[in-house]
Amino acid sequence: KKTEEVMKPITPAKRVENVKYAIRDIVAIANKAKASGKEMIYLNIGDPNIFGFRTPQHMLDAVTDAMNRNMNGYSPSSGIEEAVEAIRKQAARSGIQNIRDIFVSTGASEAIELCLTALLNPGDNVLLPYPGYPLYTSVVGKLSAEINPYYLNEENDWNLDVADIESRINERTKGIVIINPNNPTGAIYPPETLKQLIELAQKYNLVIFSDEIYDKLCFHGQSYTSLASLTQDTPVVTFNGLSKSYLVPGFRIGWAIFSGPEELMHDYIEGVNKMVRARLCANHPMQYAIKPALEMDQSHIQYVLGELEKRNRITDEMLNDIPEISCVPAKAAFYAFPTLNIPDRDLDYVSDLIRETGVVTVHGSGFGQKEGTQHMRVVFLPEEDRLIKAYDKIRDFTRKRYHS
Ligand code: PLP
Repeated sequence: KKTEEVMKPITPAKRVENVKYAIRDIVAIANKAKASGKEMIYLNIGDPNIFGFRTPQHMLDAVTDAMNRNMNGYSPSSGIEEAVEAIRKQAARSGIQNIRDIFVSTGASEAIELCLTALLNPGDNVLLPYPGYPLYTSVVGKLSAEINPYYLNEENDWNLDVADIESRINERTKGIVIINPNNPTGAIYPPETLKQLIELAQKYNLVIFSDEIYDKLCFHGQSYTSLASLTQDTPVVTFNGLSKSYLVPGFRIGWAIFSGPEELMHDYIEGVNKMVRARLCANHPMQYAIKPALEMDQSHIQYVLGELEKRNRITDEMLNDIPEISCVPAKAAFYAFPTLNIPDRDLDYVSDLIRETGVVTVHGSGFGQKEGTQHMRVVFLPEEDRLIKAYDKIRDFTRKRYHS
């Protein structure tokens, strides 16, 4: 018999049904527009290198040198010693005490996946921010665990609403994720709010996962507090990495830091480490960028911040100038998440915006948002003139769509 007569199409597992990544999904529509000859302006992907920001030379030198020294085999599963030490010192500088363990991962993404996988049984739930970063919902979905969404408070500068979070906790809730500084809202959480969250975690026996990948990108010298620095007696996993502040998302280097009481964390950390060992190691030569990144010249950060502050101001001014759009100015990172006061769905608005103008943003519904609200996420990494052009196009498109 011919193969096609006996074989059936291969069915993907049910668990992937809920895996969605709106940021990349929107690319399919963008690719069509591009193929039809549209000039495209991409405000959808948080990759600083695409927009001309360059990796500090000393990091490149360290990696090239490692490769030339033939550091191209596997590394220890938790990461090379000098990197783990540099991460430990950096964590201590940001005030984290009671550090129990650290491992280096293939981007913060892998650390997030391993740490959630080691915690959640099917049917357990974890509190996730809405709007939020889609990786979390995908991983939780994949584990057949439940997403327990809590809504960030746009009326209060996108801060956490701790009372609302508390009302959502039930007996299957195992942990809470915060992203601070936040993607997609650009918010930074004040220490008082973080302290309230810590109290909640203690009251209900939750692990806090604090994703701090944008920690160095706070505008106008605003202070940022690492959640783990505020508590020694709560289990906290802090995620961070080189992708954003150190301009190497393609290196795929991140890490997790476990802090809190030994007796509460021992078994969990051992569970995580089983998986850390099973996947062998993160990219070995790239790990040599970690120590120089964290300990050598940091001047690129000032430059990046200066540029981002200008681009954030343009975003704030130009978007808020459009009657249908209102935007809480970002305090950090390179994202804004304006409200669209429109009668139709944000996915339709964003899709038509791409088709008609070539400007690519991501619909708010791709990040989770309150029922009945519409948003879009913009990445304000492009250079000023490109950004101005994009926002001009958004203004003209919106005016034509709702006023003609
Ligand atoms: N966490 C957040 C909040 C992010 O925005 C991103 C990337 O956009 C990541 C994690 C992934 O980081 P990495 O490149 O280290 O995997």
